[in-house]
Amino acid sequence: MAAAKYIVGNWKLHGSVQENAARLAALKAGCRSDVALAVCVPFPYLAQAQQALQGSAIAWGAQNVSEHAKGAFTGEVSAAMLTDFGCSCVIVGHSERRSLYGEDDATVARKVQAAAAAGITPIVCVGETLSERERGETAQVVTRQLAAVLVHVSTETKRHMVVAYEPVWAIGTGLAASEEDVREVHALLREQLERAGAANARLLYGGSVKASNAKTLLNIANVDGALVGGASLNAEEFLEIAQAARA
Ligand code: PEP
Repeated sequence: MAAAKYIVGNWKLHGSVQENAARLAALKAGCRSDVALAVCVPFPYLAQAQQALQGSAIAWGAQNVSEHAKGAFTGEVSAAMLTDFGCSCVIVGHSERRSLYGEDDATVARKVQAAAAAGITPIVCVGETLSERERGETAQVVTRQLAAVLVHVSTETKRHMVVAYEPVWAIGTGLAASEEDVREVHALLREQLERAGAANARLLYGGSVKASNAKTLLNIANVDGALVGGASLNAEEFLEIAQAARA
């Protein structure tokens, strides 16, 4: 039997205690256990997510993690701190972190290793910008980003990590990548993972996934789930995406 699809919500910089309470309650009430669901919430809301989702089929996690374990790193949050709040996953190397906060491939690789060492599944984002795509560099960019991680992490980490292909031009634009693009890039990434001894690592697609296109995207070969930004802020729509993953 094929493994359940993995659907992860990225709340980004959104939410309030009140808003989250309603969303988390709706998710808990509407989720079923045959799809693996997770929400990655802002750091201050991890305790709230833990309290609301404990005992449900929905996991929770963060959107960033420090590469450091402890010390004089003001503003950072370590992987061990995330485990204190029951996080099972963390998004690493999101394009917004790469472009707005200067995270390079080497930093991303260290963060992946730090998360995995603490027993948290790193969801490693790779993806090309619009100009890289227009220059025909998609394959080169995504394989470079993934290779930077694969060379730095242990075999065990490679097996358990999740990779999300998120073309930057598709994030938050309402314009998802075409089936052909997703099929091609996921096949390429799968081959790269196989060569690295990580054939079973899960490969997600992210970039304007919505209830209306989820079924098509989730049915493409080598798509094991989705990383969902905007649409994950609406519990009903996020649950519809989960439903599409089930079908
Ligand atoms: C994301 O931020 O990871 C993302 C995929 O966003 P959206 O679904 O809004 O495109």
